[in-house]
Amino acid sequence: MDFEFSPEQLAFVEEVERFLDEHDDPEIFDVTRENMAQIVDTPKRRAFMAEVGAKGWLGITWPKEYGGQEGDGVYEYLLNESLARRGGPQIGKGVGIIGKTLIAHGSEKLKAEFLPKILRNEVEFAVGYSEPNAGSDAASMQLKATRDGDGWRLNGQKTWTTSAHFAEWYWVGARTDPEAPKHYGITLFLVPLDHPGITVKPIWTMGDERTNEVYLDDVWVSDDYVVGELNRGFQYISEALDLERFTLFTISPILQRLELLTDYVRSASVDGEPLAADPVTRQRLAHLHAEAEVARVLGLKFVAASTKGGAPPTTEASEYKLYTTEYSKRLADASMDLCGPGSQLRVKTEDAPLAGRSESTYRYTVIDTIGGGSSEIQKNIIARRKLGLPKNF
Ligand SMILES: Cc1cc2nc3c(=O)[nH]c(=O)nc-3n(C[C@H](O)[C@H](O)[C@H](O)COP(=O)(O)OP(=O)(O)OC[C@H]3O[C@@H](n4cnc5c(N)ncnc54)[C@H](O)[C@@H]3O)c2cc1C
Repeated sequence: MDFEFSPEQLAFVEEVERFLDEHDDPEIFDVTRENMAQIVDTPKRRAFMAEVGAKGWLGITWPKEYGGQEGDGVYEYLLNESLARRGGPQIGKGVGIIGKTLIAHGSEKLKAEFLPKILRNEVEFAVGYSEPNAGSDAASMQLKATRDGDGWRLNGQKTWTTSAHFAEWYWVGARTDPEAPKHYGITLFLVPLDHPGITVKPIWTMGDERTNEVYLDDVWVSDDYVVGELNRGFQYISEALDLERFTLFTISPILQRLELLTDYVRSASVDGEPLAADPVTRQRLAHLHAEAEVARVLGLKFVAASTKGGAPPTTEASEYKLYTTEYSKRLADASMDLCGPGSQLRVKTEDAPLAGRSESTYRYTVIDTIGGGSSEIQKNIIARRKLGLPKNF
């Protein structure tokens, strides 16, 4: 088994790092936003991603026919990890969820309208699956779509829609057949977020980032903006979720925090004694390093499995997402414990241990164990699909 990257892959990372050095700007890169740094939410970050697009790096894995390079997914992984290490915006739902679903299932009209814009980063999307009574069980979504002329009228509420306050288009699931079994009556639509029937209200997370509630009141959508086949929406959502678990959770910012903690332990002293000499601290830190290696390798295993072709590596995605996001939380807990009372100082406080990231990540890291499918749901997937255990009731 070979865990090393090839010379070509390492040369690509060097090229990316040079590009990032040339574009270094604190308004684009902010590691303290943790995993939410990935969203492309300001004009400067959009312009930067357009330059990433101009390098051909947004369509690395897309077919050539649609402007992509038909490259190996490992390059997308390497690019995203380099971007994440600096707290930069990343390849996410536009290229992954929306782009890849349109390529696989979208009409020629939708492909022609959206794919070139995604590659040039001229459009941002929000993804609307979750509702107040349908989160883990997305197939229970109730947003109503009723037939009206050559289209559909949408009514209802979504929640936790990240990006809805700045994106142009809403990738939204709605129930088009209330009589069908719940997994088969859902359709995906593309709706402009400036439609007069749409209201977006903020929800601030405990990690200081914004997500949203979205209300749809008699929002009319033409048949042209139905994605793929009617009532097949849930199947498309499931397909794309495997990808989300991969692109939406990077490991570099976590490893970087581990390095910050390690440097702190090396240099700090408590009651005149070096912290590094404390056996409990040393053991805890060593354990964290061993766990970081497990997380890193689970990520590589997932990348290797997803670039082999064939069925999506669902269980590998779940193992990586579950372990890495739970580890990130354990690391934040350890940072709070080991850095003493100073760990409660906020980010950007002068002289705060770990530059204030103990406090912020202690709050933030909880979020990653919920978004994109909670830890319990990942465990259910592993239990069912890998271990063959019966479905939970
Ligand atoms: C910051 C953030 C951003 C998000 N962004 C988006 C977005 O852009 N678009 C979008 O559509 N959604 C988004 N989500 C929603 C996210 O996908 C859901 O929060 C998640 O799927 C959990 O759903 P829920 O919050 O309704 O919790 P619930 O599903 O109600 O779960 C509550 C608890 O019960 C547990 N649970 C539920 N079912 C089971 C089961 N079968 N077995 C064992 N335990 C179970 C869960 O693990 C959890 O602990 C976001 C969430 C967060 C936190």
